[in-house]
Amino acid sequence: MKALQYRTIGAPPEVVTVPDPEPGPGQVLLEVTAAGVCHSDIAVMGWPAEGFPYELPLTLGHEGVGTVAALGAGVTGVREGDAVAVYGPWGCGTCAKCAEGKENYCLRAEALGIHPPGLGRPGSMAEYLLVDDPRHLVPLDGLDPVAAVPLTDAGLTPYHAIKRALPALVPGSTAVVIGAGGLGHVAIQLLRALSPARVVALDVSEDKLRLAREVGAHETVLSDASAAGAVRELTGGLGAQAVFDFVGAEPTVRTAGAVAAVEGEVAIVGIGGGALPVGFGHLPFEVSVHAPYWGSRGELIEVLALARAGAVSVHTETFSLDDAPLAYERLHAGAVNGRAVILP
Ligand code: NAD
Ligand code: ZN
Ligand code: ZN
Repeated sequence: MKALQYRTIGAPPEVVTVPDPEPGPGQVLLEVTAAGVCHSDIAVMGWPAEGFPYELPLTLGHEGVGTVAALGAGVTGVREGDAVAVYGPWGCGTCAKCAEGKENYCLRAEALGIHPPGLGRPGSMAEYLLVDDPRHLVPLDGLDPVAAVPLTDAGLTPYHAIKRALPALVPGSTAVVIGAGGLGHVAIQLLRALSPARVVALDVSEDKLRLAREVGAHETVLSDASAAGAVRELTGGLGAQAVFDFVGAEPTVRTAGAVAAVEGEVAIVGIGGGALPVGFGHLPFEVSVHAPYWGSRGELIEVLALARAGAVSVHTETFSLDDAPLAYERLHAGAVNGRAVILP
């Protein structure tokens, strides 16, 4: 089968032919119908050889949906032909966090060498994807594969961060979204669907700010050195009750801290290497800062339900598997509005 692989440190990913996978006991084979392109893959492909955490070649793609093509011995609960989304942050399935459905925070994944597809294990940018256990599959129940696939990460990750902040997002409150890209443009819609907060979106690109307004941002602000002042002004000097940074670079985490209100929540979701110091004099009183990772299986079920209800709709740009390297080039250049999706 064809697959998009990251093969050489620092080089672009390549379309190659690899053996068709076969499901072992307990595994499910999916024929992939859509795979999403995440900025995290670009981060991975920028890491140096020293300390690189995954084996190469690596088939990319940690957002995947597909049709069940074959079942390994003993698999129950899914049938050939079922249309499903893949819950990506696999865990051991048995530790205390996995028991809560929070496999993204599995206590044993690292020790057991368990990796998400596309981030250590062969991913979804291929004609077929092996899934280790049917519990990682959520029925699409009528959702279109292209529309649904970004929800497995670009939807689930902001959903998890926003859900935690909801008690602070009362009427009259403000939520700030920094970076209106793949994750950010879904975050704006989730905030509008789940809270009465006024949503202020920041980005460096006018195209992204236009998309932010289209999907529901009340206000947009160009993300530069004066952005924090502009947001403070929009909030009558009080700041935002919740801030979601989908860039996570030094300048954006600074902005995130500078726009937080007293007792505000700051989620640093982007992996841009920035850090926000917490301590007296650094931030307004009692601001909470956290760096969440992906979301739980239950939350993925909730995000898909929101999409079925029409509350979120991802802006997508589709590419064939042969053109997948171009999708990464475009994302790297900031030219993708919404989410790029590969159709293997
Ligand atoms: P993306 O490229 O689609 O979107 C990033 C957006 O940020 C773009 O619109 C870009 O114009 C904007 N931007 C860049 N610099 C900016 C700045 N200084 N101020 C404001 N906006 C700026 O990327 P994505 O796929 O949405 O991913 C966003 C980030 O989240 C990445 O760092 C990715 O690795 C990370 N991520 C984290 C998790 C997690 O679990 N924590 C999950 C998925 C993605
Ligand atoms: Zn991702
Ligand atoms: Zn576990």
